[in-house]
Amino acid sequence: MLRQTKVAVTFVLVAFSLMMEGTPDASAGSTLPNAIKAGVAEKLFRLDCGRSLANDESVWTPGENVGKSIEFSSTCWLIKARKKWVLWDTGVPQATLNDPKGWSTLPELIVYHLDKTLTDQLAAIGLKTSDITYVALSHTHGDHIGNVVLFPNSTVLMQRAEYTWISSPDGPNDNVNQLKALARKLLGTPRHLKLLEGDTDVFGDGSVTLVSTPGHTPGSQSLLVHLKNSGFIILSGDVVHLEENFEKNTVPSLNTDKAASIASMDKVRRMIATYHAKLFINHDKAQADTLELLPEFYD
Ligand SMILES: [Zn+2]
Repeated sequence: MLRQTKVAVTFVLVAFSLMMEGTPDASAGSTLPNAIKAGVAEKLFRLDCGRSLANDESVWTPGENVGKSIEFSSTCWLIKARKKWVLWDTGVPQATLNDPKGWSTLPELIVYHLDKTLTDQLAAIGLKTSDITYVALSHTHGDHIGNVVLFPNSTVLMQRAEYTWISSPDGPNDNVNQLKALARKLLGTPRHLKLLEGDTDVFGDGSVTLVSTPGHTPGSQSLLVHLKNSGFIILSGDVVHLEENFEKNTVPSLNTDKAASIASMDKVRRMIATYHAKLFINHDKAQADTLELLPEFYD
């Protein structure tokens, strides 16, 4: 009897710890992968999708760095899994290539430049835009969806909350209204659009998971990828802009929801702990410059 009780208790404890490992966001219906059983993607490439100059860093670090200029990176990622290709974000519009004036989403604040096209970088590893099965979008700011129209055959994966937001009537904040109008223009009407309801396991094996991290925009998401040798990597989207945001829990003033932003950063911290994951921050140029760039890759 005693032995049976002990076995039962051990079983419950093991089950509980597996549950904790597998679902850091223990909410019902979470599809975050099991840290031990998750399948693996084959390759992860970083693409140079632009860079930007902003004249006041304090927009992203409220209360600090007032009037200080800053350069951000814009990063796209390409994943090969199950013989399919997933592109994460599409960067600054290709029409910006080598334009000395650059391109802007909010001209008073930030100007983007593009030194390499997405299509040339794909071609460098033998790919055409029609080879990309999924174009997954972190959110609908122009520097992330600038080239969606180049992928008419791909299925666009984005959160339903994001799509509903950009389709909603204008509100009181003119900057936000401008960004939404630009988003509608750049996104156009994708032929294959899949709207997601929260965390989504793309291949059903835990190798590539889209993770709901709202706050920067209402339907922002991040991406968790599992690789054989590199382990778990989280692609930030804009859940944070800089490592400093993440360390100090500071929320950029342009974000649509401060409390949701903080909750999403907490979710990412829990994922880092559960999966022993690395966090690759899209716009953190200092970090991006240290990461492998296509044709090099993580596996
Ligand atoms: Zn953004």
